[in-house]
Amino acid sequence: MNNFELYNPVNYVFGKGQIEKLKDLVPANTKILLAYGGGSIFKNGVYDQVKKALSSQFESNNIVEFGGIEPNPRYETLMKAVKVIRKEKIGFILAIGGGSVIDGVKFISGAVNYEGDAAEILRKRILFKDVSQVIPFGTVLTLPATGSEMNSGAVVTIEETQEKLTLGGSALFPVFSVVDPTVITSLPKRQLQNGVVDAFTHVMEQYLTYPHDAMLQDRIAEGILQTLIEIGPNVVENPSDYKLASNFVWSATMALNGLIQKGVPSDWATHMIGHELTALYEIDHARTLAIIGPNLYKVMFDTKKDKLAQYGKRVWNISGDSTEAIAEKALEKTVDFLHKMGMKTKLSENTENYEKTADFIVNRFEERGWKALGEKQNITPEKVREIVEMSY
Ligand code: NAP
Ligand code: FE
Repeated sequence: MNNFELYNPVNYVFGKGQIEKLKDLVPANTKILLAYGGGSIFKNGVYDQVKKALSSQFESNNIVEFGGIEPNPRYETLMKAVKVIRKEKIGFILAIGGGSVIDGVKFISGAVNYEGDAAEILRKRILFKDVSQVIPFGTVLTLPATGSEMNSGAVVTIEETQEKLTLGGSALFPVFSVVDPTVITSLPKRQLQNGVVDAFTHVMEQYLTYPHDAMLQDRIAEGILQTLIEIGPNVVENPSDYKLASNFVWSATMALNGLIQKGVPSDWATHMIGHELTALYEIDHARTLAIIGPNLYKVMFDTKKDKLAQYGKRVWNISGDSTEAIAEKALEKTVDFLHKMGMKTKLSENTENYEKTADFIVNRFEERGWKALGEKQNITPEKVREIVEMSY
């Protein structure tokens, strides 16, 4: 097993009715900003629950609101929130929403005290390590998918240049996250499908590398995959079933809260390529992963076949003698699962005029110096081209 440090300070508050606890979780001695997205929280009652929880502790003039953080949050929008925070002297942010709102708030949290052009945070991938330099924030999760509620990473799009870039650092963990699985009942089917597939791919990025000796991480990863496979198709149809909802939400958090990444190699190239498809064509994040993931496993088959076979045997109960045959069958099962989850796994099924996508992505990666991706750093620009072209 590789050496590691496990640091995760998030107070994860899980279960029915937990939004009420905001009255004790949100610091009462400071002005707060409620940050949210396009308004789903007004329709499903989450906003009312939050306001009710805060009403006993907060004068309304100590609460400022900032709405309109869009899916795949835009740098341009987030900088408006940064101005509000500076002007209003906000001391704490409460992010209410899915990964986009939470990621957006992570950026805002770091950008408020950043000296210099805040776009550098994304382009130079500035790491935030000092909690005294960021605005503390908590979250109320409304969409299980990204794990952003329990990790310190984020993804933000610069609209002007169509760049979707990451940021992070140990100072950007939420102070707390309130996760009530009943809030998923108002999610459209498409978003439920996306959530399952994003979480599934997060596990695959950290698990489907090459065989190593971190036995427990593999078993935890396989457990999350099996849970998502078992409940995914059903939770999409019955999100008000609490057994399904609670297991889905916890699986999505566990998929990317850092635990299964410790001591093991990880890949992340599916995400890196997928981000470009969202930046170019606004395809939902999870759907880009369903397009790229299986093709990446095919192109990198030699690197990944042994682990694909382990995954096939343990997660899909495939038997047989030949590693290659089990690995190939496991790939087929994965694509079937993605289809069952409502994914269209070809780029041409998700957008038009895609023929120059590979050129565009390869050029971009070369400009950024991304010449060696994946757990073995062997996903070269040529391989990226092959993966993207195979996905057409
Ligand atoms: P999202 O973009 O936050 O939300 C998608 C849509 O779902 C929005 O229109 C939102 O509406 C709606 N919604 C959210 N909760 C709802 C609810 N309970 N009921 C009804 N509608 C609801 O989706 P996401 O998949 O969670 O986040 C995707 C973003 O996260 C991408 O930018 C992706 O790159 C990023 N990401 C981050 C990480 C990480 O570790 N930080 C990992 C993977 C992906 P409203 O706007 O109206 O609320
Ligand atoms: Fe993701």
